[in-house]
Amino acid sequence: MNTDSPLNADDAELQKFGDLAHKWWDKNSEFKPLHEINPLRLNWIDSLVALKGKRVLDVGCGGGILSESMYFKGADVTGIDLGEKALNVAKLHQLESGAQVNYQYISVEQLAAAQPASFDVVTCMEMLEHVPDPAAIVAACAKLVRANGAVFFSTINRNPKAYLFAVLGAEYLLNMLPKGTHDYAKFIKPSELSGWARQADLNVASLRGMSFNPITQHYSLGDDVTVNYLMHTVLTK
Ligand code: SAH
Repeated sequence: MNTDSPLNADDAELQKFGDLAHKWWDKNSEFKPLHEINPLRLNWIDSLVALKGKRVLDVGCGGGILSESMYFKGADVTGIDLGEKALNVAKLHQLESGAQVNYQYISVEQLAAAQPASFDVVTCMEMLEHVPDPAAIVAACAKLVRANGAVFFSTINRNPKAYLFAVLGAEYLLNMLPKGTHDYAKFIKPSELSGWARQADLNVASLRGMSFNPITQHYSLGDDVTVNYLMHTVLTK
């Protein structure tokens, strides 16, 4: 854990997202990949937990791409992030979209201490690879969900192919993401994430890969977890 900061957050990472914050809802910006993968992950989550009427927490919600879409599926959504600019953009965007997400500037660890076991579903997408101590985030997510509730994670695997696609491909070749968006050393193997999940009493229920086809320029969900992947876990107690 970063000893400079009481929070399990990396200031440089938050700054990177802060600098881009005004672009969250620009579908042709650096956030284009998140907009493109959103229907895939949203429908996958919805197919597993039936979002309508569920109390959902979106951890590291950024500008609210996933949070809003879960609201429009009928969920009661709270979104938290430590990027103030992103949260401001998320709040402003609601005026336009009509979404009613409860956005809060609070760390997941603080919320877990204040409101344990209070959500049916917790999502933590594309965030674990940007924090100093991802295992502590996983544990806090587990604390926030009720017994038998679901916690979803998504992140990037760590191996030569992931480096090639997520760093060289997306950042350098295709210019899909700003250079320096991802730090290879912080990528997470599914075995590591499963281990942290189990330690937190989260049972791994399923694992899906998210692949980008550079020829068709389309994303799809499948069995290939070598680069981007999503994990569905369920609190066992
Ligand atoms: N989950 C969103 C955004 C992913 S981008 C989505 O998938 O659409 C990563 C987000 O994580 C950024 O908004 C950044 O501000 C946030 N973040 C990084 N470290 C964090 C931390 N320790 N706690 C909460 N949010 C964090």
